[in-house]
Amino acid sequence: MRAGDIAESTVMELFKVNDYDCPVCRAVNDASIAWLSSVLADLLHNFESREKLLQGGLCQTHRGKIVSLARSTSDIGGLPVAMLLEEMLERQLKALENSGKRRFFRKNNKTHSKTCYLCSFEKETEMRYIIALQSAFRKAEFRRAYEETSRIICIDHSVMILGRLTATEWFKEIQKKKYRFMLTQLGHYISKHDYRNKEPFGEEALFWKIATKLTGEIETKG
Ligand SMILES: [Zn+2]
Ligand SMILES: [Zn+2]
Repeated sequence: MRAGDIAESTVMELFKVNDYDCPVCRAVNDASIAWLSSVLADLLHNFESREKLLQGGLCQTHRGKIVSLARSTSDIGGLPVAMLLEEMLERQLKALENSGKRRFFRKNNKTHSKTCYLCSFEKETEMRYIIALQSAFRKAEFRRAYEETSRIICIDHSVMILGRLTATEWFKEIQKKKYRFMLTQLGHYISKHDYRNKEPFGEEALFWKIATKLTGEIETKG
């Protein structure tokens, strides 16, 4: 997989969906679920992919993803997960036994040791989409498509895209517009909790969940 090889038609498809998700987050999540589903659906024959998972173990996020995938997809279920984890735990137990106390502790004591293969798969996929969007936004038709879609690039991915754009004004303006809309919806939702407000709840009641997906992890002051 190389960076920057996403087709323009694929980028355009990301803007044709009628929800408020971040197109990059969705594309990355879909790719990761598709990869994992195909590995788990035929675990015994997907030797190479299984080996990638086994070698790096699983971070907390991806342990959760595997569980929810196994639960939601009836043709996967618990069996391949049990088989994968059986082998993974055998290996990890051996690694525990073979490691000198100090060496093991030093190597694994970092909070983000990042050996989970799915994490690196997602990082790589994410970068491919960021590069694809950066290059697509040079063209008016893609800028217009993003202006017209309800989808909103999340804060973290906005930071990544901004860092790669040469002309940032358009992107800052459209993001401001989209996030103002989001803030207005949150405001409506909050104000409807006032007992004097008799208006019934509408679509704005969905926006605290949407906002949770779009809010990033960046440092701000004041
Ligand atoms: Zn995102
Ligand atoms: Zn992970």
